[in-house]
Amino acid sequence: MYPRRRMPIARTALLVGATSHIARGQVNQANMQAENAYYRDQMRQQEISQQMQMQAQIQAQQQAQQAAATEEAVRRGIAQAEEERKRAEQQNTQFQAQNYGQNSNVQQAAPVMTCDQCKAANQVTSSFCSNCGNRLIR
Ligand SMILES: [Zn+2]
Repeated sequence: MYPRRRMPIARTALLVGATSHIARGQVNQANMQAENAYYRDQMRQQEISQQMQMQAQIQAQQQAQQAAATEEAVRRGIAQAEEERKRAEQQNTQFQAQNYGQNSNVQQAAPVMTCDQCKAANQVTSSFCSNCGNRLIR
């Protein structure tokens, strides 16, 4: 319609306005992009820190498991040592019974029967007193 040189001021102003509107839009867009980039960066950092926390948790769990396994091994070792001690004690008791059992039988007083007359101790299997010859009543 109008040649360029003779563009009316109103239209020029309109164009300038439109241009500045577009420019504002571009600035806004740039701001939004920057903002998005900022949030993306923050999210990425959060992800990284979360991953690091997870790794730290996993490491802590592994360490706890190792500690528990060590504790279990120690506990088992103690239990085994205790069992061996009991076994040794049992063997010792059996050994003593086998070797000193006869002695203890000898030391043990044989069952006796006291004579009514002279009070002498006689074997329960005897029929007469070995001291006075009195008949022993069973
Ligand atoms: Zn007697």
